[in-house]
Amino acid sequence: MKCYICNEEGKDSDAVAICIVCGMGLCSKHVIREETEVWTGGYPLPEEKVEHTLPRILCKYCYNVVKKS
Ligand SMILES: [Zn+2]
Ligand SMILES: [Zn+2]
Repeated sequence: MKCYICNEEGKDSDAVAICIVCGMGLCSKHVIREETEVWTGGYPLPEEKVEHTLPRILCKYCYNVVKKS
């Protein structure tokens, strides 16, 4: 898979990750990796909380949306 954002810019980079929200491929330059415990949208966490924070792979578009909400 190729990086979607690079592709939009006319470049050709191999994707190293995939945005978990929209599923677009992202190269190492465009990937936004965030360690968070909860979804800002109020995702119902189970009583037994996960021991570690879960890395979230996001593209810049989804990252902005998640940050704003
Ligand atoms: Zn890229
Ligand atoms: Zn995305």
